[in-house]
Amino acid sequence: MAPLPKPQASTVRAIYAAYEAAAESWDSLGISVGEANAECDRQLWYSFRWASPLEKHHGRQLRLFETGNIEEDRLVDDLRRIGVDVYGQQDRIRLVGSHVRGKCDGKVTGLPEAPKTEHLLEFKSSNEKGMKEIIKHGCQKAKPLHFGQCQLGMHAFGLSRCLYLVSCKNDDTLYAERITYDAEFTLRLLARLDRIINTPEPPSRVSDNPDIPPCLFCKHRSACHDGAWPRVTCRSCIHSTPETCGDAHWSCARWAKPLSFDEQKVACEAHLFIPSLVPGEQVDVNEESETITYRLRNGETWVDGEGKS
Ligand code: SF4
Ligand code: SF4
Repeated sequence: MAPLPKPQASTVRAIYAAYEAAAESWDSLGISVGEANAECDRQLWYSFRWASPLEKHHGRQLRLFETGNIEEDRLVDDLRRIGVDVYGQQDRIRLVGSHVRGKCDGKVTGLPEAPKTEHLLEFKSSNEKGMKEIIKHGCQKAKPLHFGQCQLGMHAFGLSRCLYLVSCKNDDTLYAERITYDAEFTLRLLARLDRIINTPEPPSRVSDNPDIPPCLFCKHRSACHDGAWPRVTCRSCIHSTPETCGDAHWSCARWAKPLSFDEQKVACEAHLFIPSLVPGEQVDVNEESETITYRLRNGETWVDGEGKS
């Protein structure tokens, strides 16, 4: 018999629990610049449409996120100590009708390699294995999400260079790379994001095998492969549309009105699922009664909209 695991100390459990109690779960207004270069269009669409339940993080993970923030402050101090001017921390990035969004870690001038050139600043921390990959292959190949984030940030602020500064969590090794703005890459990425935002149906899967990466670690795996029901919000409703003008605006065609963020989260009694989010096959539509009938995966018939109003 394998040895039983040691119980976690009460003190540690209490600390983790305190982090969890203080944590807030929130829906993202749009697609995060840090995820924008994900390889799967469908994954980005599901996130944008709030298809899966809100993620709840363990206390250890929450503490790790805090460690990342503390490390960022330290990297700012490190840069200032060598005479680099750091400013613009947390400046907002807003792209594609503000549906693609995020904040930058700052901007700098006075880098030893190019003192006069203003750079975007992107900090990351990595474990030893990830650091080896970054050092060996560089940001673009080793960390495509980071690369996309740097490119979108440079595009948003009209900068031509980004300082990508990574610290290793295991031994404090630092890695710095000056990334050049790639207009072709970025415009292609923005066009892709625009397409994902404006498509009313889930894009095709990157893979049909849920048991291998990237599906294996995808937070939308249940909705995508296992037939889990999506959340009932305006974003899963057939009547909602993300508007391309304004600050991440959405509208409802059923009630002919704009939708506030709070309204989107609660939906209304006229909610009708986007048919391809329902784990079943659409068999009928009744426009008068505003219902859609499905044959579910388990063979049952289910009428969306019935009894809602
Ligand atoms: S489970 Fe796989 S195919 Fe589905 S959204 Fe995630 S990465 Fe894409
Ligand atoms: S019909 Fe209701 S749930 Fe659907 S988009 Fe409009 S307000 Fe939201």
